[in-house]
Amino acid sequence: MSAADELVVTVDRARCVGTGLCAATAPGDLTLGADGRALARHRTAALSAELAEAAEMCPVEAIAVLRPATGEQVAPAY
Ligand code: SF4
Repeated sequence: MSAADELVVTVDRARCVGTGLCAATAPGDLTLGADGRALARHRTAALSAELAEAAEMCPVEAIAVLRPATGEQVAPAY
């Protein structure tokens, strides 16, 4: 994965309501912390269908997948 392809996954933990949907959909990228709210597993990630779906399906729009090289938001798409 080149630096240009590197993505950052952010979770707004104040907004997360702990449904676990994201961790079930993209378990390689997202997990639930001890407080029951989602956490990104790694500092950076590669885009996968599962990760994009997890960002899209969060009911409170707490997840964002960003391309730091350009500032582009990759998922969810608006
Ligand atoms: S889908 Fe959204 S609300 Fe549910 S655990 Fe993940 S970040 Fe939290």
